[in-house]
Amino acid sequence: MNESASSPRNEQPQLFAELAGSGPEKVAPPSRGVARVLLEETALELDYLIPEALAHRVSLGSRVHIPLQGRKAVAVVVQLLDSSPFGGKLRPISDTITSRPMFTGPLLKMANWMATYYLCPVRQILRTMLPEAVRSKPESFLSDSHITLVGKPSADEIAKLHKAAPVQARIIDLLQANGNESTLSYLRKQLPRATQVIHVLVNKGLVTRSEVRVERDPFQEEEFLPSAPLTLTEEQAVVFAGVLKALEQPLEARPILLHGVTGSGKTEVYLQAIGRVLEKSKTALVLVPEISLTPQTIERFKCRFAERKQRIAVLHSHLSDGERHDEWFKIHEGRADIVIGARSAIFAPLENLGIIIVDEEHEPSYKQEEAPRYNARDLAVVRGKMENCVVLLGSATPCLETFENARNGKYDLLSMIRRTDGKELPLIRIVDMRLEKRKTKDGFSILSEKLRLAIQGRLDKGEQTILFLNRRGFHTALSCMECGVVCQCEDCAVPFTFHKKEGRLVCHICGMRRLAPRKCEACGEAKLSYTGYGTERAEETIRTVFPQARLARVDTDTMQRKNQLRDTLRAFRSQKLDILIGTQMIAKGLDFPNVTLVGVLNADLALSMPDFRAAERTFQLLTQVAGRAGRGERKGEVYIQTSTPHSPAVQFARHGDYVGFTEQELEQRQQWHYPPYTHVVLIGSRGKQANHAEFALQTLAGRLKQNLPADTRMGEPCPSPLEKAHGQYRFQLMLRTEKIRPLVAHLQRTLSELTFPEDVIVTWDVDAMSLL
Ligand code: ADP
Ligand code: ZN
Repeated sequence: MNESASSPRNEQPQLFAELAGSGPEKVAPPSRGVARVLLEETALELDYLIPEALAHRVSLGSRVHIPLQGRKAVAVVVQLLDSSPFGGKLRPISDTITSRPMFTGPLLKMANWMATYYLCPVRQILRTMLPEAVRSKPESFLSDSHITLVGKPSADEIAKLHKAAPVQARIIDLLQANGNESTLSYLRKQLPRATQVIHVLVNKGLVTRSEVRVERDPFQEEEFLPSAPLTLTEEQAVVFAGVLKALEQPLEARPILLHGVTGSGKTEVYLQAIGRVLEKSKTALVLVPEISLTPQTIERFKCRFAERKQRIAVLHSHLSDGERHDEWFKIHEGRADIVIGARSAIFAPLENLGIIIVDEEHEPSYKQEEAPRYNARDLAVVRGKMENCVVLLGSATPCLETFENARNGKYDLLSMIRRTDGKELPLIRIVDMRLEKRKTKDGFSILSEKLRLAIQGRLDKGEQTILFLNRRGFHTALSCMECGVVCQCEDCAVPFTFHKKEGRLVCHICGMRRLAPRKCEACGEAKLSYTGYGTERAEETIRTVFPQARLARVDTDTMQRKNQLRDTLRAFRSQKLDILIGTQMIAKGLDFPNVTLVGVLNADLALSMPDFRAAERTFQLLTQVAGRAGRGERKGEVYIQTSTPHSPAVQFARHGDYVGFTEQELEQRQQWHYPPYTHVVLIGSRGKQANHAEFALQTLAGRLKQNLPADTRMGEPCPSPLEKAHGQYRFQLMLRTEKIRPLVAHLQRTLSELTFPEDVIVTWDVDAMSLL
């Protein structure tokens, strides 16, 4: 079975003749009487008549109901025709689901592009493009009543009313205080009986009542103080001029890579660029990694554009379904001109786009790890082309693919190497943990002598420290001292992590929890030993070493409660805490002026990943983490604990040398035929029966080998680094090619000729980011 299609033959990526070609959107002439629709559930394409009564509502991208075998089915209009080549009698479309088309022309075009690039059925892509709440309950808005005071009672009458019917009088008071109008829900909050009493007032002719739609606005309660554009620094001014030039001539403009160190003022450039876009009556789409999409980030945009804060839509995973529904419709109905969102916001149905900005463009979270496995950063470039708008990719550590595009002239490169506050980058010190470990009895050390002294120094001076460790839990393994067998999750074949507070072993892949065994389950010996450490144990160590320090740990284990993260960060900012220890949740975007020390407890974790991007990830992580130190008046210091102090990622990060690191890493990538010099297509198979999954992949590999496009390198099917997860055995096959389209076409043909056993799932990932 294929993950995205039970029968790939029926689900070839569609090519919409109407949409092929580039350039500005062609508007379909209105007179066409036939719509070709794509059925959402079966991926069939069928032709239907557009009845006269619906002529003004049905257009490309409309979602419609159609009669099909005695019932109603949902479909999307993908083509408009004068007549149907199928002949026969066509049945009419029953109705449209919303009055405007749910997919804009460029989005339909992008769906089509994605289908052939990522090899995924169009209907699945269209499904991904709409939030679940929008798809299943379109236009299910909340409503409220608008109450207007129309009668003009005199002061005398009101005084009388206060005695005879006090609630009625109170309502009139409230309305008068409110400019003679209010919503019913507001009145009810003041006076629980308002609903019944309004009824009386309506009958008396004193007030009128009309139903209005209410938006679920996640920021309803917030105040936004307007902020004025800052005077740009010299570097910012140069960059801004480059962006303006592109905005003047978007047709000729290439995507722009803005490489700017942390604190160089990229966000200010984004804000001013958006300002210009709005002046031209165009719209702006801003993508931010989910983890950076904090209230502060949103606030910065809402404050700068305070006068139109209602016209900013925000899309991210913490919204309720209702809020997401309302934000989406705000965009759909043209009531938003700025959209800020995480990955899937790349599908926001904004029209008239002037700019797409992708902040932290190197972030792996822009890649969706389930079908369709798209990368929103890449889609930004694709969509930008289809919308003829400017694309601005920003990062302190651009990913190698993007940097190479800038080197070879596909993108324009603009750089900012100075922080706006004129601060130097923090001093980075490398601590060789091999030496530290020799100093201890058991060869184990969480905290080096050097880092310990540095922390002590901060505590003495009342300055703050951030400690970073990208692994949760207490011990990261439990193994038998006799036979060496590691206690692992049966479903996932990864070692259990011991969580002390919970007193349980936890699988970090599937979440399974169990008590620790008393004896080795392999040999029966009772000599078990815990090894390795995560944030929970590091916290305990720090508490023991610095009993007087005020300390908080930030990871997904401690941040379960809704506002816990926000509250903890606030406490840290207001210096009620001395030390913050945490996972990547604290690596990004946080700006604390009193933090003068950042410690990376174990830089080797990222380096030892079985992934050709391990060095790149480590460099990015260290650079990002280092950016947290010395944001205020005092200079910052960073300590990186590692057992591989001479690795290039560590050394270049130490010198803040992005270009140096990247150039030498690119050389390696080229030599070994890795991205950006090739595209990686990772094919996976998984199933409860290892031999079934393996055999399926071997069969596929065997078929692929025949007629493999000339420049493609194909590995051998082998167990994935994560061999087993959720009870399924996993295998993978890596292909690398310079020309992606012939390979995808070959893969598509091959897949369509094969059927896999029902209990095996085969997946494919074009431009794979995760190699697990
Ligand atoms: P980045 O996005 O590159 O990390 P930011 O845009 O967040 O940088 O800017 C970092 C800090 O510098 C912020 O506090 C911001 O208000 C300030 N800043 C940015 N541009 C200017 C400027 N032109 N003049 C003064 N301060 C600025
Ligand atoms: Zn598991």
